[in-house]
Amino acid sequence: MNIALFGPPGAGKGTQAKELSKHYNIPHISTGDILRANVRDGTELGVKAKEYMDKGELVPDAVLIGLIRNRLTEADCKNGYLLDGYPRTIPQADALADILKEISKPLDAVINIEVSDEELVKRLSGRRSCACGESYHLMFNPPEKEGVCNACGAALYQRDDDKEEVIRQRLTVYNKKTKPLIDYYGNSGLLVNVDGTGSVDSVFVVVCRIMDQYK
Ligand code: ADP
Ligand code: ADP
Ligand code: ZN
Repeated sequence: MNIALFGPPGAGKGTQAKELSKHYNIPHISTGDILRANVRDGTELGVKAKEYMDKGELVPDAVLIGLIRNRLTEADCKNGYLLDGYPRTIPQADALADILKEISKPLDAVINIEVSDEELVKRLSGRRSCACGESYHLMFNPPEKEGVCNACGAALYQRDDDKEEVIRQRLTVYNKKTKPLIDYYGNSGLLVNVDGTGSVDSVFVVVCRIMDQYK
């Protein structure tokens, strides 16, 4: 099953992807998580990426294309993959099509999670994240124990780019550079829209109904 989860920052891609990855036993490939791991480890890639991430800008396409090529050719992708946060520009989507052709794993669907801007700002400003990739929300999806990750027990933190100023910038960048992919995948017949405003569990049920078609 070869799926891309698409949607604006805060739509719930990461939250859904974590559960879907377990449910369907396919790897969750989050370019944001990979970049943040590089920032934490202080790699050359991480140092370069951080400048863009802190400002709410996209990291350059060439960096992301190299990164996703390496990741998709790893052995655990043989039965499929779940992309989260890639592609985010038309050049990234074009490069993805080339890579997927080379490895004979074309996309089955691009699932677009739709949420209003007002709700996105609420979700992002209350988000609390864990280095393991889990994310929570102070009100909508709190951890069992305040400030502590359910999955791994580590302390939760607020991402630097989840501050109000940077959130606005990320939404602007989404509208300008990423949203055109809705038409791009709409025209190729791969796009499936999902209402992302329900509870985490209700959105999960709807997404599973779509993904079950590609089992
Ligand atoms: P994305 O990966 O698309 O940026 P996340 O999955 O990190 O989004 O979710 C953004 C924030 O919204 C997190 O704080 C998360 O706990 C919360 N969230 C996710 N899905 C829902 C939902 N269906 N209803 C309310 N809050 C949600
Ligand atoms: P969210 O889904 O909450 O917006 P991500 O964790 O997906 O956040 O991404 C965080 C940041 O990492 C982005 O704002 C951007 O700077 C960078 N990034 C992640 N994926 C990409 C991508 N495909 N292209 C360019 N930059 C990316
Ligand atoms: Zn954790």
